[in-house]
Amino acid sequence: MTTRTNARPARPDQASDRSNARPAKGLPGEGAGFEAFGLHPELLRAVADMGFTEPTPIQQKALPAALEGRDLLGCAMTGSGKTAAFLLPILEKLRGMPRGTTRALVLTPTRELAAQVDEERRALSKHTAVTGAAVFGGVGMEPQVKAFRKGVDILVATPGRLLDHFQHDYAKLEGIEFLVLDEADRMLDMGFLPDIRRVLRHLPRGPRQTLFFSATMPKPIVELSRELLTDPVRVDVERRQAPATGITQALFPVPALRKPALLIELLKRDEIGNVIVFCRTKHRANRLFQKLEKAGIPAARIHGNRSQNQRTKALEGFRDGRFRVLAATDIVARGIDVEELDHVVNFDVPNVPEDYIHRVGRTARAGATGEAYTFVSPEEESDVRAIERAVGRPIERRTLEGFDYGAKEEERFEVPVGERVAALKARRRDERERARAKKERSGRS
Ligand code: ADP
Ligand code: MG
Repeated sequence: MTTRTNARPARPDQASDRSNARPAKGLPGEGAGFEAFGLHPELLRAVADMGFTEPTPIQQKALPAALEGRDLLGCAMTGSGKTAAFLLPILEKLRGMPRGTTRALVLTPTRELAAQVDEERRALSKHTAVTGAAVFGGVGMEPQVKAFRKGVDILVATPGRLLDHFQHDYAKLEGIEFLVLDEADRMLDMGFLPDIRRVLRHLPRGPRQTLFFSATMPKPIVELSRELLTDPVRVDVERRQAPATGITQALFPVPALRKPALLIELLKRDEIGNVIVFCRTKHRANRLFQKLEKAGIPAARIHGNRSQNQRTKALEGFRDGRFRVLAATDIVARGIDVEELDHVVNFDVPNVPEDYIHRVGRTARAGATGEAYTFVSPEEESDVRAIERAVGRPIERRTLEGFDYGAKEEERFEVPVGERVAALKARRRDERERARAKKERSGRS
């Protein structure tokens, strides 16, 4: 942790079109929502219920080909919306078919993924009669046995548990017409390739549509895809939502009141060079700015209460190195070229995981390196867990040696009561909304 970093020169010509690039909502200007694919109204309703308005880039490209019945080779990173990209075409086709035979098999590397895909299947099929189940290890066999006996339409499975079932007579998948390999490269990493081949031997030889997804294409995966796919349509989507690989992410657990001191200490020790610091509110950005000034660290701030002229000056000064720190609120930061930065501090934990992923993902572009540090007070731990679930792995936790985490602040880092209450209310509303949506989704089968 000794790298000193600098802001690179501005490219204002490119700043504006990035400001609202929120990938999961689709690209502005790419127009028509899901209606354009000719999906059945039952599916469109479910898509709307889930709050999807615009297809993501991979959905945009994969849906027409898959609906045409073509095999698909999809190269796309986590978070790009692959699940709906393969589930919607399958659901569209299974809708009109008689029940009682399992016709679609989705293979995923882990239980968590199998459960997630099954949950999305449930949500997307809720206005249809299409059925499904997940099959993975670590839970009882019995409900899964029932799913086989019933012949649910869509089975989402991890290879290991599926093979366990295949040892019994009830487990027949002779009616499979759709096969999905999700995260094939991860299955390879986990040593599942032989298992996958074994699973394939249990599937019928007849015509089948195969949808194959992998974030990377190492040789064994290319070979497997060649074996499995017939004249596939290849769909490549660059990573957009998940943080680029070159970014080091770290969490700094710290009492709320010690956050300013921790930042100042990191700057003084040169653990951080030039940095943009995201704060939850304008007021916090202001207070942080004052503390930095007091500590003799050249800083500037940008947020909604600053005039355009003030913001431009702050940015210019930051970019040419006169200011070491730019204290910002997220709203304003969306309009600036933070992709050119390689150091970001989340002074407060974003309370929606997507915001975290989005913000960190803009720190460095593919191939570049960067560091994204997040200060976490004990009250913010639950938000961090949600973020780690979304990122798909734990984020490294760091402690700054020699820093006095227990010191009493002589002055409170005060937030006006009104602002605090408003933030709390907004957050509660958010949580209720999400809990409700989740409950609704898991309440159906
Ligand atoms: P992947 O399988 O590529 O990692 P997912 O299919 O799990 O990605 O999707 C990532 C997240 O984006 C999920 O929470 C999903 O519900 C959401 N999502 C998918 N498609 C859309 C869409 N068109 N609009 C908004 N959110 C979407
Ligand atoms: Mg996925």
